[in-house]
Amino acid sequence: ATLDDSQETGAIPVDRVDAIDVEEEAATTNETISAQSRRGKKKNAANALEARDRRYLSYFIATNRCRREPWDEFFNNKNKLPGLYPRLPGTPCCDNCNPESFQVENIVLTASYPLRAGRARVPSPELRDALTRALDIWRKDVIDRDYPNQSIIVGRHILDDSVIEKIVARAHIIKDTNIFRRVIPWGYGRGRYGEEVVKIVTDTGMLYPDVEEVARQEAIREQAFQRLEIAAEKERLTKLRTVFEACYNAVYEVTTGGTVKKTRGG
Ligand SMILES: [Zn+2]
Repeated sequence: ATLDDSQETGAIPVDRVDAIDVEEEAATTNETISAQSRRGKKKNAANALEARDRRYLSYFIATNRCRREPWDEFFNNKNKLPGLYPRLPGTPCCDNCNPESFQVENIVLTASYPLRAGRARVPSPELRDALTRALDIWRKDVIDRDYPNQSIIVGRHILDDSVIEKIVARAHIIKDTNIFRRVIPWGYGRGRYGEEVVKIVTDTGMLYPDVEEVARQEAIREQAFQRLEIAAEKERLTKLRTVFEACYNAVYEVTTGGTVKKTRGG
């Protein structure tokens, strides 16, 4: 729920300004946090002036009331002369006072290729080693094949070490060349060499099956089989019951004819 919602539905009121100003937790001791994963995190204000700027910016963003209030307060406007061009009557004030004049556009972005990849199992060390080797050999072969008799273009220019690292680290998400558009950006992968590398990743993956994944798939199959067995047993019982009830009713509903007398001899 947005902050607005919580206030309207009577939930615990949230100080909207404080909610924005919550400082991110300090960096953990985990040194593997990359620069990228820390992108967008807030740094502490460098000085009092910057802290004031931030406070008012948060106030401006978060307020439910007229946005002129933080503005006027920030610039201390009440001690200044009125503006030369006062707002004309009937003209919109701000998005909080006149929300109808500030319709929020609903923008949907679609792409024909994945923009992000879901979580995938981490490849085993054996697979990572084998894949790194395979890709290194491949890029050398590409030079011999497509750029022979020269020494300016080398394998790294086709497939950089950093790209190999990314491919190897996320081997299990690589199913087709679309992955090279956004998730693992690689120009040649989108073009002439993508298919070859996808095939290397797939083939190498098959040589080093993921033990845990295989076990998981096995367990899923086992469960499915058990469900099938249970269903079969149920069906058998249902059939038996139907037959039994038919026999029972046939005997029970016999109302005509003489009593069947049975002797020990039959
Ligand atoms: Zn306003």
